[in-house]
Amino acid sequence: MSTARPEQHDSPENRPWTDVREPPVAVRVEELTVELPSQERPYAAPLQAVRELDLTVPTGQITALVGANGAGKTTALRTMIGALPWSRGKVEVLGTEMGAARVAVPEGASFVPDSPDYPDRWTARRLARAHGATTPFDQGRFDARLSAHGVPLDRPVGRLSRGQLTLLALSAALARDPRLLILDEPFARLDPLARTELVDELRDLMALGDRTILLSTHDLEGMERFVDRLVVIADGRTVLEGDVEALREELLLLERPRQASDERDTDPSLIGPTTSGDTTSALIAVDDAAGLPPGTVLRRPAVSELVTHCLRAAGASGHETAAPVTTPRRGAE
Ligand code: ATP
Repeated sequence: MSTARPEQHDSPENRPWTDVREPPVAVRVEELTVELPSQERPYAAPLQAVRELDLTVPTGQITALVGANGAGKTTALRTMIGALPWSRGKVEVLGTEMGAARVAVPEGASFVPDSPDYPDRWTARRLARAHGATTPFDQGRFDARLSAHGVPLDRPVGRLSRGQLTLLALSAALARDPRLLILDEPFARLDPLARTELVDELRDLMALGDRTILLSTHDLEGMERFVDRLVVIADGRTVLEGDVEALREELLLLERPRQASDERDTDPSLIGPTTSGDTTSALIAVDDAAGLPPGTVLRRPAVSELVTHCLRAAGASGHETAAPVTTPRRGAE
């Protein structure tokens, strides 16, 4: 895969004083390795849930963290909010380097886990009081959002549906007006209307400026219109990272009539090829896309196509040939 990087300037004096500052970064993760105790048998080596992971979340953008089940997304997110210690690497959140054993959510950040875990007898009202006691909390906004979604304020959380629980946790996070919102699979339990409304609410948050969202999701439908940056991880490592629009220009979706050689998967320029019926599809780097046989169709891939072919390439290669692709962040070109 091709690699495009921001232009390098060798010394500060050589840099034009405008145009060289990269956009500020809300989260920077470098060579992060997280080991979790293996429960399978006594004395077994710990499981490396995240391995030398690198990723960058620019301020003012929505970044999606995607990957297969068990790829390490939740583990990575939990290190960023101080809920999980790590073995090696560096995690910087909102300008502060986190200590590997830190257990506090960084100031200015809000996190919504995939399965919010509140005491069963708490109500939304009780939860709001708890939040309001420690952080600025917009009670009016919280109540309005819950009532718009039909989530009762006085029902114990143990009796809410799983989707209502997610809406409660999202409403509490948004009422804290976070600078950085980290969401672990926020769409997973939402009905289509609640999903659409959440997308609108997140867009409204971004419109306030200087806000950042990092979310993990398997729901890639329409993501090209919602997400600015994409980080794909496989087996705990980054296999693709970049600005969505830049990636969709650098990596094209190729479709062509099936050829005998496709069965052997021998064309090294095809990334994550798959054959369905009479058609082979794959990603191909734009630099490799000249001189293709007649009948080949090239187009910009949807985010879901970028991700699935990339994960297929990572799976087929043992993650070696699907080298990380890093493209300039928006505003850094
Ligand atoms: P999904 O998309 O299915 O939610 P994920 O990308 O969020 O997956 P993680 O939950 O981060 O994946 O899990 C990464 C790896 O760590 C998996 O192999 C998982 O089995 C393992 N793992 C997760 N939690 C623990 C734990 N508490 N102890 C040991 N291993 C764990």
